[in-house]
Amino acid sequence: MWSVLRPDAIAVLRDEKAQQALSRYFAVMENSLPARFHICARVEIKTTSDSSETELWKKHESGLRELNRLQKRVDEKKMKIEDLPKPEFSLLDLKIELANKILRSCRFCERRCQVDRTSGRLGVCGVGTQPRIASEFMHYGEEPELVPSYTIFFSGCTFKCVFCQNWDISQYPDGGALATPRALAMLIKKARQAGARNVNWVGGEPTPNLHAILEALSKCEVNIPSVWNSNMYLSSEAMRLLAGTQDVYLTDFKYGNDRCAERYSGVKNYFEIVSRNHMLASKDAELIIRHLVMPNHVECCTKPVLEWIAENLGPNTRVNLMDQYRPCYRADEYEEINRRITSDEFSAALKIAEEVGLQNVIT
Ligand code: SF4
Repeated sequence: MWSVLRPDAIAVLRDEKAQQALSRYFAVMENSLPARFHICARVEIKTTSDSSETELWKKHESGLRELNRLQKRVDEKKMKIEDLPKPEFSLLDLKIELANKILRSCRFCERRCQVDRTSGRLGVCGVGTQPRIASEFMHYGEEPELVPSYTIFFSGCTFKCVFCQNWDISQYPDGGALATPRALAMLIKKARQAGARNVNWVGGEPTPNLHAILEALSKCEVNIPSVWNSNMYLSSEAMRLLAGTQDVYLTDFKYGNDRCAERYSGVKNYFEIVSRNHMLASKDAELIIRHLVMPNHVECCTKPVLEWIAENLGPNTRVNLMDQYRPCYRADEYEEINRRITSDEFSAALKIAEEVGLQNVIT
């Protein structure tokens, strides 16, 4: 398995900047630390069957504090995860319970459809209760630190991007095959045994399947870093549920303003929501931010996104500046994005990254 890796996937293991941004991820990848969802599954939560939702959230918050305390001790090698007994009901179980409650009035993303997905009603994403998998495979095309990445593509998305390269997956929530959390956990186990560096939850978008992903992690026996690969349009509740379960947020920060987000992806209030979630993600786990440079959008999108990252998350934030935009799906209806980017546009994007002081940019 390792002999067929891309050379940069080997070289990145000795790369100082990658190590700086992703030190815990590398430790989990090499099995010298446990994945965070395993620690989450060792945090005991005491509830009663008549606990109200407000009470459950309070327990959740105190459970998160305990998780952070335990993780610190584990990371400092003052304790081993094996020293922690498996509780009858854990913080991870509580997260699953809360996620299933949200599913009955869905607020996993900031569209906040509030439909009862358990009764067969569908929100904007069109995703049902049980996840549908469009494909799953060992991905060799991700960032060097991630490959080989066991990538699970969920059908359906919370966005409606007119230029989506995966539109046949993202815009067809009924496509693919139904999968249970247990089946996903089995697939992850096999992939890890075959050399996967991580499990990579993507789509479409993983957000509508948060409940099932948490449950799959709770059934996952192997130690493997969990990577949340997302448009980051999650609700604040969903971000709380994700907290403590992911090792890396692999985010997509597309737009520098709400006007472009609404025009091309059909979402409102983009910048405030996505920047808020990047702040939360950076406090919770390690981060790789992707920014796709789009034709005619260097000034209105690339510049404000890179400025915001440098100012708010710091110069060492790992940013993948992507030049692979190509007009797909309905991009031909929007003349200004109906072409690839020019080399001048990409050079301008790189120059902005340098000017704002970003020092951990990969391309
Ligand atoms: S995940 Fe889907 S159903 Fe739930 S709020 Fe978002 S778009 Fe609506």
